[in-house]
Amino acid sequence: MDGLTPVAQRAPGRWQIATVTSIERETPRAKSFRLALPMWMPHLPGQHYDVRLTAPDGYRAQRSYSVASSPLDEGEIELTIDRLADGEVSPYFHDVVVVGDRVEVRGPFASYFVWRGEEPVLLVGGGSGVVPLMAMLRHRRRTMPELPMRLVYSVHSAADVIYAGELEADAAITFSREAPPGWTGHAGRIDGPLLVATGFEPATAFVCGSNGFVEAATGLLLENGVEPDRIRTERFGPTG
Ligand SMILES: Cc1cc2nc3c(=O)[nH]c(=O)nc-3n(C[C@H](O)[C@H](O)[C@H](O)COP(=O)(O)OP(=O)(O)OC[C@H]3O[C@@H](n4cnc5c(N)ncnc54)[C@H](O)[C@@H]3O)c2cc1C
Repeated sequence: MDGLTPVAQRAPGRWQIATVTSIERETPRAKSFRLALPMWMPHLPGQHYDVRLTAPDGYRAQRSYSVASSPLDEGEIELTIDRLADGEVSPYFHDVVVVGDRVEVRGPFASYFVWRGEEPVLLVGGGSGVVPLMAMLRHRRRTMPELPMRLVYSVHSAADVIYAGELEADAAITFSREAPPGWTGHAGRIDGPLLVATGFEPATAFVCGSNGFVEAATGLLLENGVEPDRIRTERFGPTG
């Protein structure tokens, strides 16, 4: 030994064992999990963690999940997971994981789909694609509430609204399949008039959702004058 103290490697890059501290049901299909991390480090809103499950026979499954919380929540992260009926990892979280369980995570990752304080910002989310956008919205509300940031959020029906209690005047929702009774707001897919109604202006845009959603929303933004290099996208899954 040369007498030097080894420098502990910090996240990202190193797997660590997180502890589940709370679980909240958001919708029939989505739950939010708060995890306490021994090697926590602040993330940039938009970044994700990798989660790894290991079966007793050594079989491993790894998936990415966006951080939903603000980096001001020191020592912990929140992940919101949509349950896919035929999936491997998401049903495990929904059906098996309880408070106090330990799960292996690694992160935070991504340098492209992150909000670093640019303004104005337009967030466009479909389904669980709202998760990294909520990290941006929550962080902006806590640090720079005056900064122009708008969320446009598309869900199939009222039962699918994640973070329903947190959607304020800076968020506009549209129900693409079934609007709730008496709904006077926008229904159907995101379109130009909905963007205009939210005080839309050409801005940095973050688009997140399924492949099909991201394709459609990006096309709409381009048609409405957003520069291609101001549009950042994140795709969650293989289906439209
Ligand atoms: C950067 C990044 C961030 C992500 N963040 C989130 C997040 O915050 N919350 C979240 O719920 N998911 C998120 N995902 C998706 C997540 O990583 C998994 O793909 C998802 O949970 C499915 O995993 P599974 O093991 O349950 O299903 P799998 O066993 O992988 O797949 C089961 C079936 O569903 C299909 N499928 C896989 N993923 C999707 C999908 N997203 N939508 C529709 N069909 C799909 C597969 O083709 C297969 O037929 C993110 C993905 C990426 C790349």
